[in-house]
Amino acid sequence: MSVPTLTLNDGIKIPQLGLGVWKMEDAETPRIIRNALDAGYRHIDTAAAYGNEAGVGRGVADSDVAREDIFVTSKLWNDRQGYDETKRAFDETLDKLGFDYLDLYLIHWPMPARDKYVETWRAMIELRDAGRIRAIGVSNFLPDHLERLIEETGEAPAINQIELHPRFQQADQRAAHEKLGITTECWSPLGQGEALANPILTEIAARHGVSAAQVTLRWQIQLGLVTIPKSANHERMRENIDVFDFELSEHEMAQIKQIDTAAGRIGPNPATADF
Ligand code: NAD
Repeated sequence: MSVPTLTLNDGIKIPQLGLGVWKMEDAETPRIIRNALDAGYRHIDTAAAYGNEAGVGRGVADSDVAREDIFVTSKLWNDRQGYDETKRAFDETLDKLGFDYLDLYLIHWPMPARDKYVETWRAMIELRDAGRIRAIGVSNFLPDHLERLIEETGEAPAINQIELHPRFQQADQRAAHEKLGITTECWSPLGQGEALANPILTEIAARHGVSAAQVTLRWQIQLGLVTIPKSANHERMRENIDVFDFELSEHEMAQIKQIDTAAGRIGPNPATADF
């Protein structure tokens, strides 16, 4: 079964499951992308900070799949925020990818202490309106950052990509997104692999004859989220996209809800992160 799409608030469609490529060596990336495309992936999540945009672009160019059938996301790194700098950084990203347009461009972190994310957002709106990006969004933005963008520019991001996995479920943040018409995308959706030994996940997995990773990704799909698990391993890559022919019951969804914990965050807190 092919991966279903979600429609964003600007009408653009995004495949609900994609491949994250953080920590992949640029030189290794073209081969991994080709494997992913063979396995059925049509959505790749990279960033300027990952140092592998060139590898992603090469993998896409070398494949038999048409560019317009692949949804590619990249992200603006923190030291490139600001109106003019954003436009320069975007040119560099597109150049490295070797594309003439990008599907989704995100502000990687809000960096509230620097107070540049509103002017950065204005530049992204202009790039989108000029036809160089199909959809624009943000990552790691808290509800007050989102509300400020909307108040000052009248434009809500299409997506907010945030840390989200069974141990860190972000119920309040998801509710805020729903109110504002913003789609939630999960980063580190498998909790970087650490949380997969959880007995609730392994018990549900055994019942369905799947893996704990598949249960976790299926849970995100059923919540209506976009998810981007990372794997460089061909077998795991195939396993992670094979989550569309079983269904979790309401009871199993409720069981997974219990895994959420106040100490579940892995990454930095966006309210204070400054790097
Ligand atoms: P992840 O939660 O996707 O976990 C990946 C790790 O889990 C792999 O390295 C592997 O060790 C393990 N794994 C993968 N498939 C498995 C399987 N089927 N069974 C068992 N173990 C498995 O972690 P991630 O890479 O941190 O996050 C995914 C993507 O999210 C990144 O590649 C990146 O694109 C994005 N991301 C974005 C931000 C942000 O600030 N916006 C931050 C972190 C990650």
